[in-house]
Amino acid sequence: MTATPDQDAVIRAALAARDRLVASAADAARRYLAQLPDRAVAPDDAAIARLAELTSDLPEAPLGAEEVLRQLDEIGSPATVASAGPRYFGFVVGGTLPVATAASMLGTAWDQNGAYRVQTPIGATLDEIALRWVAELLGLPEGTGGGFTSGATNANSTCLAVARDQALGAAGWDALADGLIGAPPVQVVVSEEVHPTVLKGLGLIGLGRDRVLRLPVDEQGRIIPRDLPELTGPAIVALQAGNVNSGASDPFEPLIDWAHGNGAWVHVDGAFGIWAAAAPDRAEQVRGLARADSWGTDAHKWLNTSYDSGIALVRDAQALRASMAMSASYLMPTGQREPAHHTSAMSQRARGIEVWAVLASLGRTGLADLVEHGCRMAARFADGLRAAGFRVLNDVVLNQVVATVDDGSIAEIIAAVQRDGTCWAGPTRWHGRDAMRISVTNWSTTEADVDKSIAAIAAARS
Ligand SMILES: *Cc1c(COP(=O)(O)O)cnc(C)c1O
Repeated sequence: MTATPDQDAVIRAALAARDRLVASAADAARRYLAQLPDRAVAPDDAAIARLAELTSDLPEAPLGAEEVLRQLDEIGSPATVASAGPRYFGFVVGGTLPVATAASMLGTAWDQNGAYRVQTPIGATLDEIALRWVAELLGLPEGTGGGFTSGATNANSTCLAVARDQALGAAGWDALADGLIGAPPVQVVVSEEVHPTVLKGLGLIGLGRDRVLRLPVDEQGRIIPRDLPELTGPAIVALQAGNVNSGASDPFEPLIDWAHGNGAWVHVDGAFGIWAAAAPDRAEQVRGLARADSWGTDAHKWLNTSYDSGIALVRDAQALRASMAMSASYLMPTGQREPAHHTSAMSQRARGIEVWAVLASLGRTGLADLVEHGCRMAARFADGLRAAGFRVLNDVVLNQVVATVDDGSIAEIIAAVQRDGTCWAGPTRWHGRDAMRISVTNWSTTEADVDKSIAAIAAARS
């Protein structure tokens, strides 16, 4: 089929306009990023109200690219949460390093399908280098296999699917071919403080969100490595590097000894906390981590790449490939590493571009500094909040601070902080107490940002 003459004219016009359009988008992005440090972190009511001005009835005729971009910039930009900026401490999100933004923009222009090497020699090559670097930086065993995913949720699910296939395979059951109906039961052990996305993943892969044994934790949210149960038959143990509230990690050495002694597969959810391994002064917290069988993490959190970028790592690269590879009549074996054979997706953004760009630009020492910086800023937060009369509920060992007040008004304080817009922090519950959670995962947060935020939080109390 050829395009109709009319359609030809439309395409010619779009090509002619593309240069200008890309330049305008880059200009809009530059303006946005320039304002980021000074704007209110949460959008104001006026910005939210203006969302009603977005074209919301499906246009019959083309709106035109320039008008579309205008709406995105004029209406969209003010209605963003400035989570890329230096005073957003909500959830555990991370910002975007300049080199990541730049690499992402170029990668968007490349529009590579990251699935197969034949589709993207550069994407497949950067994937491979970036994954090897990540394993090396985290001190994981040589030969560890990996694949990029949309985030840690999917990285954990990917690893847990491999764990399932291997655990059942050892029991003589081919889960990949035959599924779980009629399979021997798989015992799944998690922490009382397991991240809910791990349970979500267990549901997705057929092991069930609720069919888990939960091990008790200490006051920092670490599994207590005592009175551990005996496991029989196929078993998976999911541990945690970096509790989403306290930042604390499970004691890997005794737990992995116990799990492996019971023949279980050990997976580590290390969405952000695993990066402690890349900072010499923090690595002690995740000692023994490298002895696990698989690890899930994020690049879009502490590594400060843009969304969406998770990383699944499996000690036995062949096991990962066995669970994730597929064949099709149009796929020729290449004898080289193919990204899609190491992840649950086929078509995908070539996420290795940004991860490679970030790690290459930082180097080993730059990454250690990035992690250390987040930890130092969190410690400064904790000191400042204590001085302002808050009670810090966790040992601030990483980038997380959980703080509250004794008069029961923390919910109102959080609401006032969010309204004020100087910084943003969200609520949590920790050991039965309502608290405010602060996560410092942005490369650009300065001491002045922390001090300004502490002042705003203290002021929100009055
Ligand atoms: C954020 C997080 C996840 C989920 O990661 P996504 O990238 O949002 O899918 C899982 N576990 C922990 C500990 C987390 O902090």
